[in-house]
Amino acid sequence: MRYKTLAQLQRPHERIVCEIDHPAPAGTGVDLRGNTVGRVELTNTGKTIVARGNIAGQGVLTCSRCLREFPWVFDVSFVEHCALRQIDDPAVYATGEDEEDPIPIVDDELVDLTELIRQMIALEVPFQPLCRPDCRGLCQKCGAVLDEEQCRCGADATDPRWAKLGELLEE
Ligand SMILES: [Zn+2]
Ligand SMILES: [Zn+2]
Repeated sequence: MRYKTLAQLQRPHERIVCEIDHPAPAGTGVDLRGNTVGRVELTNTGKTIVARGNIAGQGVLTCSRCLREFPWVFDVSFVEHCALRQIDDPAVYATGEDEEDPIPIVDDELVDLTELIRQMIALEVPFQPLCRPDCRGLCQKCGAVLDEEQCRCGADATDPRWAKLGELLEE
């Protein structure tokens, strides 16, 4: 995700467009498959660099309830403040408290969008992934995947909170 457009972008009021079709960056917290595709427009406003873009891709997540893997797709639009600073400069990430820290997009003499794309994908990853919204998860006793198989411990495994509801439904 490196582009030979740094000199141009350093000039105030310049705008460049980066087409993206690259393997996903590492460190997003998710198992990504195939390329991340999209388009990012970088504008030097004279004061800062604004990145406006859209990226899409796919990967595999693990359901937080049943622990099965399931396919995940993302398609995200964003507007972010960036800075013409080296992405491997630790000082850029030092504060950790300010969410508004601009994202560095320079690697040596090249514009490098790896860190920007990594952060945009990482923000999209659900905190508690679910294979489907009402995934029934695992049986607390026998570990059966309840969406997939008959629980091996039968009625005994019924959560007492639901037992009452079961009685009502049977009436
Ligand atoms: Zn699940
Ligand atoms: Zn069970």
